[in-house]
Amino acid sequence: MNPRYGKSQNPALLDVSALMAGEMRTMPFERQFVMHLKEDEYALREPAVMAGTLTNMAGYITFEATLTVKYTAVCCRCLDETVQTFTLDLDYPVADQLENSDTEEYLIPVAGKIDLEELARLHFMLHLPYRHLCREDCKGLCPRCGHNLNREACSCQPEL
Ligand SMILES: [Zn+2]
Ligand SMILES: [Zn+2]
Repeated sequence: MNPRYGKSQNPALLDVSALMAGEMRTMPFERQFVMHLKEDEYALREPAVMAGTLTNMAGYITFEATLTVKYTAVCCRCLDETVQTFTLDLDYPVADQLENSDTEEYLIPVAGKIDLEELARLHFMLHLPYRHLCREDCKGLCPRCGHNLNREACSCQPEL
């Protein structure tokens, strides 16, 4: 549980109990929440954002949302910090646990709520690229003197 919020106000918990109880409608939402990562490898710049809609159409409930996370990573060429934006579209059916055996394909609310932070963390860690570049044409470091060639050229002679 996120210690910054009281249990009822945790913005990462999306209450879907009305739809689960049979209310037929479309419920747009946009939530910002702090994502807690186990590793500190990626510094999160600001709260994660999950925005989308929940729809109950004839008893079939769908969750569609876009996750946006701004984070800092280290450029694999020049080792500078680089700010990256991660976005991912998510699309899930929502169901009660008892109805399905293949639960990985579904979002299963707990006590009528979907935990957006858990969902965000799962997809962030799963889809994050292994290598980051500060920019496509990053020149990297000089192999001889270690100078960051994005900033200025060094005086090393090019290898012959
Ligand atoms: Zn770089
Ligand atoms: Zn050099």
